[in-house]
Amino acid sequence: MIDFLKKAFQGFSKKVEEEQGEKEEKEKEKNKAEPVKVVEPVKKGFFKEIEKFVIETKLSEENFGKMFSELEDALLKNNVAIDVVSGIKTALKWNIVEKPVKREDVNKIVKDSLKEFVAKIFQDAGQIDLLSKVRNKKPFVILFIGVNGVGKTTTLAKIAKYLQKNNLSCVFGAADTFRAASIEQLEEHANKLGIHVVKHNYGADAAAVAYDAITHAKAQGINTVLIDTAGRSHTNADLMDELAKVRRVAKPDMVILTVDSLTGNDAAEQAKLFEDKIGFDAFILTKTDTDEKGGAIISVSYTVKKPILFLGVGQRYEDLKPFKAEEIINKLFG
Ligand code: GDP
Repeated sequence: MIDFLKKAFQGFSKKVEEEQGEKEEKEKEKNKAEPVKVVEPVKKGFFKEIEKFVIETKLSEENFGKMFSELEDALLKNNVAIDVVSGIKTALKWNIVEKPVKREDVNKIVKDSLKEFVAKIFQDAGQIDLLSKVRNKKPFVILFIGVNGVGKTTTLAKIAKYLQKNNLSCVFGAADTFRAASIEQLEEHANKLGIHVVKHNYGADAAAVAYDAITHAKAQGINTVLIDTAGRSHTNADLMDELAKVRRVAKPDMVILTVDSLTGNDAAEQAKLFEDKIGFDAFILTKTDTDEKGGAIISVSYTVKKPILFLGVGQRYEDLKPFKAEEIINKLFG
């Protein structure tokens, strides 16, 4: 993934380098035309100054604007939200416009500015250590929310597998009583993983299912309750209200929003909406294995400033990778 960005910012760096190169040539010419005679004792320091002047030139704001536009297009096309692009532009501008920048340093400065900016986004979004939280409360209740088709149920099953691997037991609450076949889908995962499912009939009160799943976990001494919910969309106010009710009744210790990285900027919009209507604590971004753009990771993080817990990297239970900011930054700009 992410070749687009490398190309775009290499293109941008090259343009700035060329511009700096031309300026350097001009400065050299100017200095050739007007040779300066100096007395021996100051020669060393003087030439040092001249040398610095010759190889360090300044980029005007106007030229920067022209050069940035291509990188801007590439970022936008690849799902980096407009606010993030403006932030990157400001950071870059600050570091290279009207600053003495050596031609050979341009690439590094551009790269470092981008890295720094994105690192700050991830840092502001914070971090959550899921395992230590789960170990500290029994049962630990996690509510999974998200739009249909993003991979919510698969992700819930992946988390169950991850918890099992860490010796933490789970029970599922089939609180998606709305979508046909959703309970069977959850049961299929549960059978494969050897996990009990607490369920009611379709059309039943989703909050009651969540409540029963928690009661079951308490009675059985189970570590974690993973509650599946119906996929919501902002156009469906009733479902949103029902989800808010599940949250009120279940009082989850953590609400996880699953978003599909392939939906790009829409993922950030969904995040805003769910934060508004329900509230959540962390994200999981799915399908990053097929996402060639990569911008969604930055955009969702920037938009609601919540930590990314995991990345979905495939369809198997093991295809869940803890999110590591450093790794993503290196992949994007390394
Ligand atoms: P839900 O409607 O949100 O519960 O979505 P599902 O869990 O049913 O998943 C929808 C589809 O996305 C299924 O075919 C999953 O196998 C697939 N899926 C989920 N996560 C990933 C992922 O990280 N990578 C890939 N490639 N596919 C995924």
